[in-house]
Amino acid sequence: MKVYYDQDANLDILKGKNIAVMGYGSQGHAHALNLKDSGMDVGVGLRKSSSRWKEAEEAGLKVFTVDEAANWADVIMILLPDQNQKEVYESQIKPFLSEGKTLAFAHGFNIHYKQIVPPENIDVIMIAPKGPGHLVRRTFQEGSGTPCLIAIHQDFSGQARDKALTWAKGIGGTRAGVIETTFKDETETDLFGEQAVLCGGSAELIKAGFETLVEAGYPAELAYFECMHELKLIVDLYYEGGLTRMNYSVSDTAEYGGMTRGTRVINSDTKKVMKEILSEIQSGKFAEEWIEENKNGQPTLNKLRKENQEHPIEKIGAKLRSMMSWLKKN
Ligand code: NDP
Ligand code: MG
Ligand code: MG
Repeated sequence: MKVYYDQDANLDILKGKNIAVMGYGSQGHAHALNLKDSGMDVGVGLRKSSSRWKEAEEAGLKVFTVDEAANWADVIMILLPDQNQKEVYESQIKPFLSEGKTLAFAHGFNIHYKQIVPPENIDVIMIAPKGPGHLVRRTFQEGSGTPCLIAIHQDFSGQARDKALTWAKGIGGTRAGVIETTFKDETETDLFGEQAVLCGGSAELIKAGFETLVEAGYPAELAYFECMHELKLIVDLYYEGGLTRMNYSVSDTAEYGGMTRGTRVINSDTKKVMKEILSEIQSGKFAEEWIEENKNGQPTLNKLRKENQEHPIEKIGAKLRSMMSWLKKN
């Protein structure tokens, strides 16, 4: 598989074009600011009521309402929450999609599950950073970058791939490596990753480990350091050098205990469930459920969010982290 780096992309392709970033949240602020720092003409599209309007202006960006930005722009990147994109697209973006414009996404959900069906006479591309927006910004400012996936849904101009690569370079992605995929593969692997491993899997692993120690009578402080805090240090080793580096860095006791016991925690039953989760993504069942959840005002999300916020690990964690001077207080 080809991996693209800085020398494979040319910033000139988007220079002088009007670039609109819709939304100024996690991804939105990162794309807008990185592209601006890369010499692009960037405008941000927000709703009038947005508390982030002033912040974007103070950062030196042009700020418009979403429909004004869509009208002004040659390239439109939608960085709104996935569940709000369809409605905003229909009412404030679609009317301004004249021939030859480019519509971009950072995740394929709405295109892949046909919530948004763009006109045929425009380019439709994706640039999906493989990391949270705040790291897309921070790594860029530090001179490094966040790996990105790019994908082409429609190539009306014949330049769609070059545009996607240029965008990826402008936000720092080609410093770390960019690979081309499809909207389908990005959407399905992204949903699977966040559900089974990154967000769902890791959070439940942490909670189960913490609860096991606390229920056995160990202090919550000790359980927190062991099961949550230390996980970051372990993940840093994976990030730097994979499983081998992690196992090299921990003690032989940890390595032996981990390899003989880890497979009892995550076993063939776990993998069977992972396969079920993946099929629900592939069949569209998860997408249907999530769209329905949003129509109903997110009752399940709100209930589970509250439960998680009230978990004992959150109380003890907040107390311990407040003493860690290097953690920003916001
Ligand atoms: P956020 O939730 O951080 O985006 C919030 C922004 O969208 C705010 O500026 C908010 O404005 C604006 N917004 C929300 N609803 C509307 C509306 N109806 N009209 C106008 N503006 C609105 O989104 P993310 O950055 O998390 O996600 C954006 C996209 O990036 C998604 O497709 C996501 O899948 C993808 N992605 C996200 C990653 C991440 O790290 N979070 C990683 C990779 C991809 P206001 O200030 O008014 O509330
Ligand atoms: Mg995701
Ligand atoms: Mg130990």
